[in-house]
Amino acid sequence: MARISFEYFPGRSEKANNQLEQTVSLLAEFQPEFQSVTYGAGGSDQKGSFDAVVAMQSTSGIPTASHLTYTGANKEDIEAFADELWKAGIKRIVALRGDDLSGGNDAPFANTPEFVAALKKCHPFEISVACYPEVHPKAGSLKDDLAVLKAKQEVGATSAITQFFFDNSKFYEFVSQARETGITIPIIPGILPIYNFAKVCEMAEACGTHIPDHVNEAFANSAICGSSDLEIASELLKAQVHDLAYAGYEAVHIYTLNKVPLAKVASEAFLEAHETISHQRRVA
Ligand code: FAD
Repeated sequence: MARISFEYFPGRSEKANNQLEQTVSLLAEFQPEFQSVTYGAGGSDQKGSFDAVVAMQSTSGIPTASHLTYTGANKEDIEAFADELWKAGIKRIVALRGDDLSGGNDAPFANTPEFVAALKKCHPFEISVACYPEVHPKAGSLKDDLAVLKAKQEVGATSAITQFFFDNSKFYEFVSQARETGITIPIIPGILPIYNFAKVCEMAEACGTHIPDHVNEAFANSAICGSSDLEIASELLKAQVHDLAYAGYEAVHIYTLNKVPLAKVASEAFLEAHETISHQRRVA
C-alpha cells in the first residue's frame, strides 16, 4: 500500500505556526503514515521543535516524529529532551548528526550510530535516520557512507530517509548498492518540491545533489513556453513520483516547506500511480 510522510519545520512566529497548523490539517487528507518536525534547522530552537511536535500530534492525531541532532549539544540535555518527548507521547525520532555551524567538532557522541544507540537505550523509540543517494559532501566515499548507514541499522534504526534528489537513477543505484552492502531497512525517497528554483540550486550545490538537464531546461524554457514556475515544478514532481511508484517504491517522504500546493500535487500523483498499478494487476 502506498505510504506518504510529510516533513515540516517549526514556525518562528504565531502567524507561521497558524499557517503550519492549517497546512498540517489540509495535508491530513492524504492520511500520512507519519509526519516529522525538523530540529535546529533554519535557526529553530529546541522548545519550538518540542512544542510543534506535541501540538501537531495532539491536534491532527497523526503519528509525529521529532528530528533530533547532537552536534553542539551535550549528552544530558539530549537525553532529557528525548525523555520529555517520550513522556509527551512522541515515540518516533529522526536521529541526525546536524550540521556543525561552529566549524569545529563539538559533539557528545563519536558518531551517529552511537547517538542512535543512546536514544534506543533511553526509550524504545522508532528511529529513522538520514542517507545520501549522491553521497554526503563530507563522506570519504559511497562505501564509507554506506558503512555508516549499516552501522545505524545495526544499532536499531528501522528506516532511512534520503536527502532530496532529482535524478531517480542515482537513487535506484544507491538502493542497489545499499542492498548489496547488507542494508535491509526501508530506504524512503525524500522529495523536495521546487517553489524557488534559484534557492533549490543553491541548496543542491551545498548538498551535492545533481540537477539533471531536463530540470534545468524546464525552468530555463519557462518564459518561452508560457508556463509558470509552479506549473513546471508540478509536472516535474508528478513525473518523479510516478517513476518511483512504477519502480516499486511504496513510500515517499515529502519536504513540504510548510506549504500545501506542491505537497498535494506530489501526494495525489503518487497515490494515483499506485491505484493505476493495482488496477493493472487486477485486470492482468
Ligand atoms: P551521519 O550519519 O553521521 O553521516 C552521514 C555521512 O556523512 C557519513 O558518511 C559520515 O561519515 C559523513 N559525515 C557527516 N558529517 C561529517 C563530518 N563532520 N566529518 C566527517 N564525515 C561526516 N539537520 C538539522 O540540523 N536538523 C534537521 O532536522 C535535519 N533533518 C534532516 C532530515 C533528513 C531526511 C536529512 C537527509 C538531513 C537532515 N538534516 C537535518 C541534515 C543533517 O543533519 C546533515 O546532513 C548532517 O551533515 C549529517 O547528518 P547524518 O545524521 O546523516 O550524519
